[in-house]
Order: sequence, then C-alpha cells, then structure tokens
Amino acid sequence: MKEIEISVIIPVYNEGVHISRSLCLIEEELQNITSSFEIIVIDDGSKDATWSQLVQLSQRLTRLRSFRLSRNFGKEHALCAGLEHAEGRAIIIMDCDLQHPPSLLSRMVHLWRHEGKELVECVKINRGKERFDKKLSASLFYNVLNKLSGLDLRGASDFKLLDRKIVQAWLQMPERNTFFRGMTAWVGFERAQIPFEVPERVDGNTQWSLFSLFKLGIKAIVAFSSLPLRIVNFFGFIFLVGSAILTIQTLVRYFMGTAVSGFTTVILLLLFTGSLVLISLGIIGEYMASIYQEVKGRPRYLIRDQAHGQIRNENFEV
Ligand code: UDP
Ligand code: MG
Repeated sequence: MKEIEISVIIPVYNEGVHISRSLCLIEEELQNITSSFEIIVIDDGSKDATWSQLVQLSQRLTRLRSFRLSRNFGKEHALCAGLEHAEGRAIIIMDCDLQHPPSLLSRMVHLWRHEGKELVECVKINRGKERFDKKLSASLFYNVLNKLSGLDLRGASDFKLLDRKIVQAWLQMPERNTFFRGMTAWVGFERAQIPFEVPERVDGNTQWSLFSLFKLGIKAIVAFSSLPLRIVNFFGFIFLVGSAILTIQTLVRYFMGTAVSGFTTVILLLLFTGSLVLISLGIIGEYMASIYQEVKGRPRYLIRDQAHGQIRNENFEV
C-alpha cells in the first residue's frame, strides 16, 4: 500500500448544509500540495443529512474516508477517532465550517516539509464573529487555565499540523479525559506558529452551548492542574488556624465569665464554612469523577459506519 504523506482530520457535527462545499475546497487545496493525501471525516453522531452527504461524496472524492460515530461523543473524542485512523506522515486537524482557512494548508505543510517543524499551530489573532457570552467565557477560561496550570493557550485553536512522531506520542497517552490543545502544548517538539484571522462561519450555527463550553473548561482544568485541590487544602489550613484562635478566645472568655451570645457571628460563620465545605467537596468530586472515568476504561468512541473513497478501496485490494 502506498504511503500517505498528509492526513487531514475533520470532525463534523450537523454540518450537512455546507459539508460538500467545504470538503471540495479542502480537497482542491490539498491536490496542489501533495499527490498523496487522505481526508478523514468523523461524523460525530450528526442528526441531519451529514452522513448521507458523506456517503455520496465518497463516490466523488476518491481520497475521502468517513467514519460515523454511534452517537455524539463530542469534538475531543471525534478527534481521537481521527488520530487513531490517520496514516499520514503529517496529520492536520481542521474544522469543517471554513473558520480554519484551507489557504493556510500549504504554508503549514511547507514549514513541516522544509523547515523541520514537527508541530505547526495556527493561532487566532481575533476570535472572529462570535456570541458575546462565548468570547467572554473563552477569555475567562483561558486566563484561569493559564493561572492554574501554566499552559498558555490564549489564541490557541485546534487547527494544527502534527508530525507522525507527535501522533505516536499522543496515542501512548492512555487518558479518556482528553484535551487536545493542552496535550499538544504538553508534548514539546519543534514548533512553529502561523497567526490567522478567524473568518465567519460559512453557514449554520456553532454547536457549542455555553454549558458544553463550561463542561469542557472544567474537564480541561481537572486534566491539567491539581491546583484547585491545593487551594482547598490551603483554605482548610487557614480555617484551622482561625478556629484554633477563636477556640482559645472563647475558652478564655468562658473561664473569665465574660462570654457573650454572638448570634450574628455564629450564623455568618456557619454559612461561610458551610459553603466552603460544599465547594471543596465539589472540587474533590470533579477529580474523583475524572478518576472514575479513567478507571472504567471505556472506549473513547464507538464507530457505527464507514465509507471510503475509491482510492482507499483499491489500495486495500493491492
Ligand atoms: N463538532 C464536533 N462535535 C461536537 C461539536 C462540534 O465534531 O459535538 C465539530 C464541528 O462540526 C466543527 C468543529 O467541531 O467542524 C468546530 O465546531 P464549531 O464551529 O461549532 O465551534 P467553534 O468554531 O465555535 O469553536
Ligand atoms: Mg467554527
């Protein structure tokens, strides 16, 4: 079987309206770059016509390989599926809504081919046209993550080229709770950055609700930092010192016979410690839930269907 130089991985969810246009544009761009590529599309359990479009497209786009997940597992898991199936010597991850401009592909490949860069990241100069709440929560999340884990992902996008070595390293990471941007920042290797302006989404709406962003944020923080646990510990310690002082003071007053009934103080202290205990339990719970997920060791995704373009099938027969 012929070796593949470049694999492009595209996770899609309910993108039936424009998937055909986007894939054709991406394929055209790739034709100019290499004669040996594959496009891997992971249908993340779409509820619209995305899958039937993909099956039709594989008649036309000979280098298209599509995998349909059994339900919506989320973009991170769809990416895992793509990375596990890609065979190229370099692997490019991109979105299907043309917010990751295909025109950048040739520069990315050039940096990898001729300048020995093993990881080429496209960095957002602006965040494009987005809902205000999403912009705000993204900036809040990246700043918090930066403070907690030291990972600076401000402006980071999933639009990246990875050398096979990095994918190999990535495949060795056993965790289920994956956060692609964090993991690619963690691996090291020789890297280059290409700044880009995020164009508007071609069509349709972003699939991320504020709640799913919040969930991803918590997941990422839990996966990349133990600082919240230490903060809980720290507060526990401060409270211990505080209560020791209060205990001594109360006892002294008791023995001196000057103890007063401080109802307000008691209520405030009760409420304050109560909420602190609950928040601490919640934080510990998040880590426990994450450990539980890992221990269960369930597969990250399940594949329901596959459709391959003609070249792929011919290659299989050889
Ligand atoms: N996506 C996915 N699974 C999901 C949500 C999104 O595979 O559960 C895909 C989506 O089809 C798109 C990419 O992830 O190709 C980025 O999604 P989107 O454009 O909605 O996010 P944004 O550009 O706002 O980050
Ligand atoms: Mg998008």
